Amino acid sequence: MARLRVEAKTQPEFRARLKDADPELAGLLKKELARQRGTIELIASENFTSRAVLEAAASVLTNKYAEGYPGARYYGGCEVVDEVETLAIGRCKQLFGAEHVNVQPHSGSTANQAVYFAELAMGDAILAMKLDHGGHLTHGLKVNFSGRFYHVHSYGLDRESGRLDYDRIEEIARERQPQLIIAGASAYPRRIDFDRFAGIARSVGARLMVDMAHIAGLVAAGLHPDPVAVSDYVTTTTHKTLAGPRSGVIICRQKYARNIDKAIFPGLQGGPLMHIIAAKAACFKLAATAEFRQRQKQTVANAAMLAGRLQEGGIQLVSGGTDNHLMLADLTDIGITGIEAENRLEEVGITVNKNPVPFDPLPPTVTSGIRIGTPAVTTRGFREAEMEEVAAIILAALGRRVTAADKKRLRRRVTELLAAFPLYPNL
Ligand SMILES: *Cc1c(COP(=O)(O)O)cnc(C)c1O
Repeated sequence: MARLRVEAKTQPEFRARLKDADPELAGLLKKELARQRGTIELIASENFTSRAVLEAAASVLTNKYAEGYPGARYYGGCEVVDEVETLAIGRCKQLFGAEHVNVQPHSGSTANQAVYFAELAMGDAILAMKLDHGGHLTHGLKVNFSGRFYHVHSYGLDRESGRLDYDRIEEIARERQPQLIIAGASAYPRRIDFDRFAGIARSVGARLMVDMAHIAGLVAAGLHPDPVAVSDYVTTTTHKTLAGPRSGVIICRQKYARNIDKAIFPGLQGGPLMHIIAAKAACFKLAATAEFRQRQKQTVANAAMLAGRLQEGGIQLVSGGTDNHLMLADLTDIGITGIEAENRLEEVGITVNKNPVPFDPLPPTVTSGIRIGTPAVTTRGFREAEMEEVAAIILAALGRRVTAADKKRLRRRVTELLAAFPLYPNL
């Protein structure tokens, strides 16, 4: 009997590693890994995902078409991915105490889009937080679909306190009678009172959607009031404090399950990204661990330390501090703009983003502030002592008359600090 040849029958191009098949692209990925390793990442919406999540995201599940839902697909061969999606749904339900979960949204924006598409008619009224006070573009920005298809009313922060003014929100809700009220933000450093939002929604006959994209990790760890118990819908990303793959999730009451599922598929999306759903399953498992809860606690402690040190150094923070993973620095008093600060910090190896402060007189391309967050550096291993050093470097970089030699010294301090916290040493 002829011996079967055991060599792979696929073409060499199919078997080649990325670095051989496409050295140009492989070089760019290597360069980005070096950038992530070599800079202090303080963008509040970013994080470093775990090796387990990276492995799932880079798996053969990317090959599979699975339009539909577990047990009701439009393609054959879905028996394994059915188990994967069921696992992700079960873990997410458990993690957040949810009645119904849809794990198919490709992103946080798509999750929001699906809720509106499922539950609102064109022209219905939404009440959400102003973008330039910390809201998100999917909460009604004029050029976003949400601002085009729906009638958007907005609430902002109180000028004095820099905090949400719930009495004022209630007044606006009474006046405007929205179908949907949205709570949740991209740049709000304080706890949000979801119970109060739920009461306001009930009193005007609106439904409540909480967009917990930024704080989902804190919610999972029990460090922020829980929106799931008091809202009709909760949407989130999975890549911010939750530290999973770049993606989204919708949680809702059982009575909305059919509408929400239909809005995602076939309403808005085609085939789900099964590799990313697998990565979400891994993320939810990790987020239920004691280590994850400890890391979220440290994230909040790190933000508090950084906020305190920056304030001691003369930097104003919107609302006077932080309860969560981020802070918003108002640089008006120290005489530099948000864009200038972002650039100066970048030069010394610290990444942040310029951000409007409430009632900002400068345009969004310039801004008076920067948003600073601690999830990524905390994942990397930074604790209070490192945050003190980070604060000192930021203060020095944003000071007056910073010379090229100063910047060089600061860049060296950043490199030294990072050297003790290797990132993805096995990659
Ligand atoms: C980040 C964010 C989103 C959108 O997430 P993408 O995955 O970038 O689409 C939605 N809402 C809020 C409040 C966010 O901060």
